[in-house]
Amino acid sequence: MSIQVNNITKLYGAQKALNTISFEVGSNEIVGFLGPNGAGKSTMMKILTCYIPPTEGSAKVCGFDITSQSLEVRKQIGYLPEHNPLYLDMYVKEFLEFVGGIYKIKNLKSRVKDMIEMTGLQVEQNKKIGALSKGYRQRVGLAQAIIHDPKVLIMDEPTTGLDPNQLEEIRGLIKALGKEKTVMLSTHIMQEVEAICDRVIIINKGEIVANDETKNLQKNTTQQIITVEFDKEVSEKLLHKITNIEKVKHLQGNTWQLSSTSTEDVRKDIFNFAVANNLSVLTLNKEEQKMEDVFKELTKK
Ligand code: ADP
Repeated sequence: MSIQVNNITKLYGAQKALNTISFEVGSNEIVGFLGPNGAGKSTMMKILTCYIPPTEGSAKVCGFDITSQSLEVRKQIGYLPEHNPLYLDMYVKEFLEFVGGIYKIKNLKSRVKDMIEMTGLQVEQNKKIGALSKGYRQRVGLAQAIIHDPKVLIMDEPTTGLDPNQLEEIRGLIKALGKEKTVMLSTHIMQEVEAICDRVIIINKGEIVANDETKNLQKNTTQQIITVEFDKEVSEKLLHKITNIEKVKHLQGNTWQLSSTSTEDVRKDIFNFAVANNLSVLTLNKEEQKMEDVFKELTKK
């Protein structure tokens, strides 16, 4: 296990930001920590990176305890905080050499060169950070987070404020990094999780409300809702016989609402049913309940 969190609670004065949170993250997993603003995501990440202590509970990163072995924990972790604090007056190369110097990295010049290549900063490497676009600043943030080759990469809202092209580039970079590192990132955007994460932990008001592989969550929660109008009267009992249809609801006249959690498109089952029963389909409309709706449902309370 790369990350093990046991019953962590964090109080800010009287306010409970995290309430007995427990979860694990395996090696080389990309896990999305998803929740609305104020859910406790940053607090959890600051605790894991030893910036603030928990009020109760414990956690380990690569087997090291965050309270009693915080120096070791910091060596294992690369951290990209929410507001990517960079020295805007420094040049890209100069900044990365400065960060690498703090970690006392050997062959620093060659390591910085590798980082610049890995994060696609070649064209901008001789500019001042203040002159870079937000997307390139995020690349610099990522380069400084991985310069000491940590096993675990923790990123707080790494794509907030990026335009669609920058977003795609940074997501690609995170996915590539996830092949050799354990990655935990926070986001309040569902699509982000669907695009890059193997697993998702949904947090709301300091509590975990879901923790599952992204594909399972998609499978269990995606629902097809079909509104269909036939040319003739048809009984509810007969409609229940359509392959893969689980729920049948009468709307009006010969119009029905049918639902299914099947991963196959059920429209062909409805057409086959119509043909077999000498019915014509006059209108047919399919909607899908997406993970986005599930997230809303889990976090609206
Ligand atoms: P998220 O990252 O999910 O938006 P945070 O971890 O930043 O959530 O915040 C969780 C809760 O804790 C919020 O209600 C926030 O207002 C509160 N909080 C965060 N940091 C502090 C702090 N330093 N002092 C007091 N309350 C805080």
